[in-house]
Amino acid sequence: MKCPFCNQENTRVIDSRPVPDNNSIRRRRQCDECGKRFTTYEKIETIPLTVIKKDQSREQYDRMKIQDGIMRACYKRPISVKTIENLMDEIETEIFNKEEKEVPSTLIGEIVMDKLKELDAVAYVRFASVYREFKDIDTFMDELKKMMK
Ligand SMILES: [Zn+2]
Repeated sequence: MKCPFCNQENTRVIDSRPVPDNNSIRRRRQCDECGKRFTTYEKIETIPLTVIKKDQSREQYDRMKIQDGIMRACYKRPISVKTIENLMDEIETEIFNKEEKEVPSTLIGEIVMDKLKELDAVAYVRFASVYREFKDIDTFMDELKKMMK
């Protein structure tokens, strides 16, 4: 992306975060040439993120899928939906900060585990015990579904 001050191409992202309720990502960028900082807003629809699954197949990143898994791990725990949504925002910020077009599902799983660990021990153990065995967010979701029945 070009710097709006000096028109050079050498800019880098120093921070990315989702804008709540606006389906966009706010990015702080810094120009390596002149050192000035500026902000861009990018629509989520224009940032296609692909998830690489364990078998190397690809699928579109789906926030709801991950959020569903977290909600299942938090089943009957004293954790509000709002808290889970905030956690999801933090997780997405980390994912989008990677600046990659494709991310492995294992990486997403690791980020989710890190965040859950801080939030709730029981939810973390539920998530981690199943997740570590399967190392794949999709298989994990299926297994977790069975566990909760
Ligand atoms: Zn510049």
